[in-house]
Amino acid sequence: MIPFLNLHKINRPYEKAFKQSFDKFLASGYYVLGSAVKEFEKQFAAYCGVKHCVGVGNGLDALTLILKAYIKLGKLQKGDKVIVAANTYIATILAVKQAGLQPVLVEPDEKTFNLNPAAVEKHLDRSVKAVLVTHLYGKLADMITLRKISNKNNLLLLADAAQAHGAEDVNGNKAGSLADAAGFSFYPSKNLGALGDGGAVTTNNNKLATVISQLRNYGTSSKYVNDYVGVNSRLDELQAGFLLEKLPNLDKDNTRRRAIAKRYLSEIKNEKIKLPFWDGSENHVFHLFVVRVKNRAEFCGYLEKNEIGFLIHYPIPPHRQKALQAFSNCNFPFTEKISQEVLSIPMSPVLKEEEVSKVIAILNAY
Ligand SMILES: *Cc1c(COP(=O)(O)O)cnc(C)c1O
Repeated sequence: MIPFLNLHKINRPYEKAFKQSFDKFLASGYYVLGSAVKEFEKQFAAYCGVKHCVGVGNGLDALTLILKAYIKLGKLQKGDKVIVAANTYIATILAVKQAGLQPVLVEPDEKTFNLNPAAVEKHLDRSVKAVLVTHLYGKLADMITLRKISNKNNLLLLADAAQAHGAEDVNGNKAGSLADAAGFSFYPSKNLGALGDGGAVTTNNNKLATVISQLRNYGTSSKYVNDYVGVNSRLDELQAGFLLEKLPNLDKDNTRRRAIAKRYLSEIKNEKIKLPFWDGSENHVFHLFVVRVKNRAEFCGYLEKNEIGFLIHYPIPPHRQKALQAFSNCNFPFTEKISQEVLSIPMSPVLKEEEVSKVIAILNAY
């Protein structure tokens, strides 16, 4: 059996370091917003090439707090529209709604599955004030064109980077530094994953970073002084300690993911299986390797029989979810088509060459 993802195997090399980190944490007697969170924020900001990183409870809160902070700063107002890709993970859309803003869903680019700049331009009107782009499956969206559109139309350009830790554009700039602010998740399965929930916001905007660091902690500006109606969403001190152990290996892990992707792309040769687009550059960190098949139910049965793990990202598009009924009459044919065809095959830095070979052989024999 080749599992879709083996998190124990991913974390096993860190066992000793994690235990030492825990001992230090326990002995410190300081369990919330302590030195590990501060150190992780410093290191992750430096890694992304930005001035600020603010650790928060999870990826959804990272995105929600970015939007809420822009409202506090007067850059957004309740009810403003925010453009998102129709095929994103639902969390992107939930963040917009939780901040009291209005998501505008647009069809993705058919080659990259990412937000389509031309479609963004088509949806602009006076109440659109921001674009919240997802670097889906680990691949950077076309940030150069989106930046031009945002500047020209006075829009905020924000990023859901929850799947793209370490992805780099042609100029060597990393995810997290390409938008006005970006939200990350450190959910265990992400490219940089904790042993529980975690998230962060990265930005070069001093004021935004200050407001978010207050909002995550009840809106506190100093102990027991509250400037805003905030929330409790702090990056956990213990998780920050674990993330500090894993961050130094993130680039190496992403390089391994790309090497596996390269094999999949050159060695999987089956007309029934459509492979994802990749230009071969470091703008993709292959959080997921997503193929497309026409008869997915049959293909799933075949993979099960041959003991190859898989998942579907995502089987029901956001506008078809009961939670988002207001969008149920929207018409996104491409988003719906891919939701019926996509399937993610095993992808992780701990996959062995012979496991990759086995996945390839089984897919080629389908
Ligand atoms: C994982 C993920 C999130 C949410 O992160 P959590 O930490 O689970 O809240 C948001 N957006 C995308 C694209 C994700 O993959």
